[in-house]
Amino acid sequence: MDFNLSKEQQELKSKTYAFAKSLSKDLLKRDKESVFDSDAWKEIAKNGLLKGFVPKNLDGFDWDATTRVAALEAFGEGCSDNGLCLALSSLVWTIFPPILSVGTDEQKNKYIPKLLAGDFFAADGITEESAGSDAIAMKASASLTKDGYRLNGKKSYIGFAPIADLVILFAKTDPNMGAWGVSTFLVETDIDGITLSHNNEKMGLRTLPMGSIKFDNCLVPESARLGEEGVGMSLFNESMEWERSFILATQVGTMARQLKQCVAYAKSRKQFGSAIGANQSISNRIADMRTRLETCRLLLYKTAWLKDQGKTAALEASMTKLTISEAFVSSSLDAVRIHGARGYLSEFEIERDLRDATGGLIYAGTSDIQRNLIARLAGL
Ligand SMILES: Cc1cc2nc3c(=O)[nH]c(=O)nc-3n(C[C@H](O)[C@H](O)[C@H](O)COP(=O)(O)OP(=O)(O)OC[C@H]3O[C@@H](n4cnc5c(N)ncnc54)[C@H](O)[C@@H]3O)c2cc1C
Repeated sequence: MDFNLSKEQQELKSKTYAFAKSLSKDLLKRDKESVFDSDAWKEIAKNGLLKGFVPKNLDGFDWDATTRVAALEAFGEGCSDNGLCLALSSLVWTIFPPILSVGTDEQKNKYIPKLLAGDFFAADGITEESAGSDAIAMKASASLTKDGYRLNGKKSYIGFAPIADLVILFAKTDPNMGAWGVSTFLVETDIDGITLSHNNEKMGLRTLPMGSIKFDNCLVPESARLGEEGVGMSLFNESMEWERSFILATQVGTMARQLKQCVAYAKSRKQFGSAIGANQSISNRIADMRTRLETCRLLLYKTAWLKDQGKTAALEASMTKLTISEAFVSSSLDAVRIHGARGYLSEFEIERDLRDATGGLIYAGTSDIQRNLIARLAGL
């Protein structure tokens, strides 16, 4: 067993960390006003980071999973804008994989270069108001007519929805077929009948635009279907394995940054004549934060290793998602406690992580759903 990263991977981490640190401009203000940093997004596209997630024949670098995770961990450590981190993670783990997995050459050649360029946004349309954890209960429909598919329905709580140019839409082509009645479509949002709207203010991840997408009798050609009819849920499961495995990789980097900040504060802040870190209640929190960080890293890289071996990682994907999301919330709360009132006031930029971390308990399947999956895969 070799836990070392190669020299090239370490260099990529250092480069990505330095690049990510140059982003996060005006974050306090943008968080308050819920503003996405489109300039930073263009910088990410220019930097070439996105290319690591795309095969060489599409102008990518085709990194293995371990290299991808290492780059994202470093990005999360450098970039304080958790909304931007999720925007990046969503593109590379929820949008690229289904297109690359079952897209036709025409679909790949049309959309991947636009997405790499950084001025074309894509949203992943699964959740509906009445179908969240139970995604198969979705009502959105796609009916085949002689002119193409007619799309109806509404997707809610969707990242990038208000500014999306493209939606990966999951809809029922046969409502009587359960999981086998779901199909997937690549829908450009400039067609008739689509309405994009913005959610009202949210608890955290405010710099990531989020909202709903309504389809009112939209017509798309048959060529807009992504994969065969009826394979939507198997594509969903395949994409979800990538998403649950790695969508929180940036958060592991964020936890490393948080830990450094807390250690420095625990050493410098004095109460009762000595550094607060001298109290065991503070040092225990630091120890817990460090242990959580290591546990998350081990699971994240073990899952990446499995993927690089071409092995299935359904169990590890759910354990990774559950562990990192819960750990980030716990460590963010510890960071607030260690910083006292400074931790609680927005201007010191400690509390934002706690608000942002909470979203991770919900997207890509809630913690309860991950536990259900883990118990089932454990044989229950
Ligand atoms: C920040 C953020 C970004 C998101 N981005 C996207 C996106 O880009 N695309 C997209 O399609 N969706 C997105 N979502 C939506 C997300 O996937 C859903 O919110 C999630 O699947 C949960 O669905 P729900 O909100 O309807 O909750 P519900 O499914 O109604 O769950 C409510 C509660 O009941 C629990 N529960 C439900 N069923 C069970 C069960 N069987 N066993 C135990 N407990 C259960 C849940 O764990 C939860 O605590 C996003 C959500 C957030 C918060």
